[in-house]
This record gives sequence, structure tokens and C-alpha cells, in this order.
Amino acid sequence: MSVQGLKGFKDILPAEAATWQRIEATARALFHRYGFTEIRVPILEKTELFVRSIGEATDIVEKEMYTFEDRNGASITMRPEGTAPVLRAFIQHNLQLLQPIQRLYTIGPMFRHERPQKGRLRQFHQMSVEVLGTDQPMVDAELMAMAWQLLSELGLTVSLEINSLGCPECRPAYNQALLDFIGERNEKLCEDCQRRRTTNPLRVLDCKNEACREQYQGIPELPDHLCPACAAHFEEVRGLLALLEIPYRVNPFMVRGLDYYTRTTFELITADLGAQSAVGAGGRYDGLVGQLGGPKKMPGIGFAIGMERLVLLLEQAGAAEEEPEPDLFIAALGDEARQQAFRLMQLCRQSGLKTAMDPAGRSLKNQMKQAGKSRARFTFIVGEEELAQKAGILRDMASKEQQEISLAGEPAGWRDRIVPIIIR
Ligand code: ATP
Ligand code: MG
Repeated sequence: MSVQGLKGFKDILPAEAATWQRIEATARALFHRYGFTEIRVPILEKTELFVRSIGEATDIVEKEMYTFEDRNGASITMRPEGTAPVLRAFIQHNLQLLQPIQRLYTIGPMFRHERPQKGRLRQFHQMSVEVLGTDQPMVDAELMAMAWQLLSELGLTVSLEINSLGCPECRPAYNQALLDFIGERNEKLCEDCQRRRTTNPLRVLDCKNEACREQYQGIPELPDHLCPACAAHFEEVRGLLALLEIPYRVNPFMVRGLDYYTRTTFELITADLGAQSAVGAGGRYDGLVGQLGGPKKMPGIGFAIGMERLVLLLEQAGAAEEEPEPDLFIAALGDEARQQAFRLMQLCRQSGLKTAMDPAGRSLKNQMKQAGKSRARFTFIVGEEELAQKAGILRDMASKEQQEISLAGEPAGWRDRIVPIIIR
């Protein structure tokens, strides 16, 4: 039996490649317009980086990381997300010295040991952006506007949900309010929530258990417990979203699966992917750079969009991209004609045309069939007869119109006569 790929590790086959490329090209062009430059970071990092940033009591660190010892016995982890590695690089290379506000993006694979299902893989891909060096609400709104624009440029409609998780000033009081509330209901809660009381009370807001949800009617909501500075920040973010006419909904139960978030958090939600409803998500992490050993006062914010989910949405919408068809198929018969055609193909490719020919030089009928199958826009026919009469035939495959092209001189001259007809 042949060796199969790992569960949750998917091949992106040629038929899907054009869709992936369009997503990436659209994102790169958009990120550049918003002032972002690319950073590429390694896939492997010290395990400690993720434990210190994502948080010990999160699903990602507790259950989902691909962590192993390398040959020297050091604990290393395949990155489950992009923010921590980008911040590690930012700190390590003192990027803040180059520019007080850094806008970085990165695109690549992430790894989480989850139960594979539609839109949920063990190797998946994210496009993620980070802005470091400012806590201005304008940047929060700008990032959400950029994510929104990316999806609309791809022709997708999602809804934006936002929340504020407060800061180390207001979080303790809110945690206490939560603890008081769930303490009264402890016996009726699921095991996870009972454990969350001691590990991270905020997580109970996110519990999917029906019984817990019932118990949480009337649970204290974060936006009502923000300190004045966080409340003002949230208010301003909301005002700016309104100013940009970006529709959003405040979801007071959105907590996100990573511990580093402060203040603004957001998710882009779709109704079209079943349980995998989040297409992208992000938020502010004002303490994270300091926590990782970088400059103490270095606020930041970022988001990540899951590419597999975008591909699924585009496919479902019938908007998957197709490989562009060849501009030209050269059908050649006879040794001499095939030699000249081969030279012509090279010249046409140098001139920017997607050009194909049959390397095996089968019958003309067979080659015309191949030309049709390839959906080439034009076919150029050079056989022994054409060569002798110094006139090839250029056929427009859609209109079926044919015209003679002089074969006088070298293939470079033929190319000069063909290219202007095809590029219009
Ligand atoms: P979910 O709630 O679906 O597990 P998440 O909160 O774990 O998502 P983030 O860590 O915020 O996701 O990552 C941002 C985006 O990356 C998600 O919105 C999603 O589109 C994508 N993503 C996350 N995990 C996976 C996965 N295992 N497979 C495919 N895409 C994923
Ligand atoms: Mg997850």
C-alpha cells in the first residue's frame, strides 16, 4: 500500500492553486496599501515562547501544540499562531528603532493538533498582521476596516463582532464579579467551567455546554465593567467604525482563545461554514511585548485570517479561481516544423504569452484536440506544407476565424507578426 499523508494535513492540489494565489495576491496588495510590510518567521520556535504568550491554561497550549524534543533535548514547538513569533523577531531585532510604529504582515502555515473537520485542519494557513507601537483607537478601527475590505474585495460577506476585554486595571474586578456569579452556581456547571474558576474565569463566557449557558443568564458582561480609560477607548473604537460605515455588533461573550488579549477583540463571522464560524479574529495585546522581554510600553494589535476557510467560502459561492488558459497552442508537424515551432514557443513565452505545444508531435487532429482541451485562445498551425508555402495558419479558437501568417525569415519574425494579434 502507498504511504498516505497525515490526518489533518492536506495537500493543496493544482485545481485549487489559483484560488489560493488570488487570495494571497489580494491580501498582499491590500496590506501594502495600508502600509504593511512582510516579515517571514520560522515555523519552529522554543516552546517557552508560546507558553509565555498564549498562556498556560489555554486550549492551544494545553492540548493543541505540536511540541517535541529536538536531538539536543531542547523543547521546540511548531508555531500554532503567528503573533508570538513575529513579536519575538520584533524584539530580537529591535525593529522599533527603525520606525516607532511597525506594521507587519506574515502569511504561512500554522499547526494545531485539533480534531480535523471541514474548515479545521492540523496544518492550516493564516494571513496575519500586527501593528506595534501605538494604542490609538484609530489603529483598532483601521485594522477592522482592512479585514473587512479584504473580505469584500474577495466578494465575501461576513459579520464583524467586537468586544473589549479591558486591561490589568479592570480585569481583576471583573474576574471577581464573574467568580461571585459562578460560585453560586458551581454544582450545576460542567467540569471545564469548574476548573476555569481557578485557572481563567473569563473562559466560562465561551463555554459551549448547554447547561452552563442556561446558568449564565444574566452573567456580568465585560463592557459594563471596564475602567474609565478602557471604556473611553472602546467608545472611540466604536465611533470610528461608525464613521467608516463598518457594521458591527458588540458581543460581550467573546473572549478569544489566547490569554494575551487586552481591550479590543474582534471576530469575522460567517454563517456558511457550520461550526467553523470564525473566518478571522484578532485584538489588542498591549502587555505582550513587555511580557516577552521587549520594551515595557509597547502596545500592539493584530489579527489573523484562516485561508482554508476563505477557500471553502469562495468554492461554496462558486467563485473559485481557475488557472488562466493558454494564449496560444502551437500545432506543428514534421521534424523541421517542430524545431522551428519549438523556437517560436520560447520566443512567445519571452514576449509574455502563455504558450503550449505537444512535445510528442502527434497527428494534427490529435494536436487540435489538445488545443481545444487546453482552452487555448489561439492555435498556430505549422506543418510541412505550411513551411514549404511559407504561410502558417493562426486560428482564433472562439470565433473560428483563421488568418495566414507569413513564415518568411526566422521564427523571431513570425513571433513579431503573431504577438500583436493575440495581445489586444
Ligand atoms: P476557532 O474558534 O475556529 O477554533 P480560533 O479562535 O482558535 O478559531 P484563532 O487562533 O483566532 O482561531 O485563529 C484565527 C483564524 O485562523 C480563525 O478565525 C480561523 O479562520 C483560522 N483557524 C484557526 N484554527 C484553525 C484550524 N485548526 N484549521 C483551519 N483554520 C483555523
Ligand atoms: Mg481554536
